Amino acid sequence: MYFEEHIKIENAVIQQVELEEFNGVDVFIKREELLHPALSGNKWRKLKYNLIKAKEEGHTKLLTFGGAFSNHIYAVAAAGSLFGFETIGIIRGEEQLPLNPTLDFAVKNGMQLVYLPRSIYRKRNEKDFQLELSKQFGDAYVIPEGGTNLLALKGVAEMIYETKVKFDYYISAVGSGGTAAGIIAALNGESEFIGIPALKGGAYLAPVISDFVLSYTGKDLKNWRLETDYHFGGFAKFDKELVEFTNRFEQQNGIKLEPLYTGKMMYALADLIKRRKIRDGTSVLAIHTGGLQGLNGLKAKIRKLLNT
Ligand SMILES: *Cc1c(COP(=O)(O)O)cnc(C)c1O
Repeated sequence: MYFEEHIKIENAVIQQVELEEFNGVDVFIKREELLHPALSGNKWRKLKYNLIKAKEEGHTKLLTFGGAFSNHIYAVAAAGSLFGFETIGIIRGEEQLPLNPTLDFAVKNGMQLVYLPRSIYRKRNEKDFQLELSKQFGDAYVIPEGGTNLLALKGVAEMIYETKVKFDYYISAVGSGGTAAGIIAALNGESEFIGIPALKGGAYLAPVISDFVLSYTGKDLKNWRLETDYHFGGFAKFDKELVEFTNRFEQQNGIKLEPLYTGKMMYALADLIKRRKIRDGTSVLAIHTGGLQGLNGLKAKIRKLLNT
């Protein structure tokens, strides 16, 4: 198929990982961060069927929304240049120069950036507002913030279907909830999914995820939970302890994590095992959802944390 000529998505590597906290539990990681240098992790999974639909409908432009450090903005810009769409990124807040590494990449990949004050950006999920923007930019295919919609779930579900081995638990970082919903849908009542919200007050995501799962599968699946205490102060917040943890994980396993999503997820997994909230003798598949591009914009903060 057109898109798969460009991206080898099948069977991202699954490998076992070690950490002293994992004692008694077999932990594996699905390395979605390796799918493609620019279009990695869950952002590719969520974009795939949206891109196919946009092509089928004859759209030549994609329009989407995000913050200045958004992995989704980065991925849409990459998809645009790989697959020949013009891209428009509606960015929350004011322009900051020089551009950070995420937006610099977006612009270099041809994305047109449009900054909206927060008061207007707030309307990003309203259908009328999206329609207005789509028209303004010449009939663009609108992809919601974070890339989460029902077509996104379909791509995420494939990530689980292609995994032939079954695990007792599946764990992933949660932002908008689309990735969680896609995994839960694919598990279809088997095993257990644990989601780790990267933001504070993540309990509000439970009904959001339930609604997505229900719309997609027609079922009210219950074999999942969110562990909401691993946000480290809020979205994009992290501390020295988390950075030291991800560094130790990388040293032991040779796998990079970033502190906004995958670092929090892996820290949570270690803590849940330590506290016996994941049973001894079980197996876990952790999803590496990617996001490593974000490290370029975090270098200064990480260096500062480690020096103090
Ligand atoms: C966007 C993102 C998530 C969150 O995915 P959602 O589908 O929005 O919940 C998790 N990890 C990484 C690395 C991301 O970029």
